Amino acid sequence: MSEVCINLEKIKNTVPGSVKILAVSKTKPVEIILEAYNCGQRLFAENKVQELELKFQQLPEDIEWHMIGHLQTNKVKYIAPFVKMIHSVDSLKLLEVINKEAIKNKRSIPFLFQMYIASEESKFGLSIEELENILQSSEYKEFKNIIPSGLMGMASFTSNEALIKKEFAQIKHQFDYLKDKYFKFNPEFCELSIGMSADYHLAVEYGSTIVRIGSSIFGSRK
Ligand SMILES: *Cc1c(COP(=O)(O)O)cnc(C)c1O
Repeated sequence: MSEVCINLEKIKNTVPGSVKILAVSKTKPVEIILEAYNCGQRLFAENKVQELELKFQQLPEDIEWHMIGHLQTNKVKYIAPFVKMIHSVDSLKLLEVINKEAIKNKRSIPFLFQMYIASEESKFGLSIEELENILQSSEYKEFKNIIPSGLMGMASFTSNEALIKKEFAQIKHQFDYLKDKYFKFNPEFCELSIGMSADYHLAVEYGSTIVRIGSSIFGSRK
């Protein structure tokens, strides 16, 4: 068995079967991605539009591609035809464009709101106030081709476990609050995308339904 497969098996054996494992393949060549594919992995994620598009074209059709990186409005059109889920929605403007491109492609696009939970400086992600402003806006209510599917967050890059726990607890609390207040009758609003190689065990304890794992599957990136 290849090293990639061994790594995947190890991870699968340590998270509940209901948790989706996203293999974060950014910077990795298609041959390595195929190794994971050949041992059964079907969910992959990239953080750059161009790389995502290229890999989609080169790899088997039954891969589900997730976009996890910051997304510029002018690039949505390249991934709108095929992307399975966009994890990084952080503005009303971006949603408007995703909705428009979804209509052009005669589909609906599932997405997550990216929340700003880290205590360290980070450029991207919404506060709960910003998100509620979006949800309550008249524009948002007009978007019919987007599927709000939950929240995404990145904890601080730190070895301070207590801090990571605090941030995960915060986003889990936000999820429960939003679910109750806005999405009670939206069964698709059910995903919490938290947890990466270093902290996915903790993330699962805090209700993560999707973990985004790169280096623990494919090895470290240059
Ligand atoms: C790169 C990346 C990951 C995976 O990071 P690892 O530490 O390699 O598991 C997860 N989420 C996002 C948004 C990323 O950019």
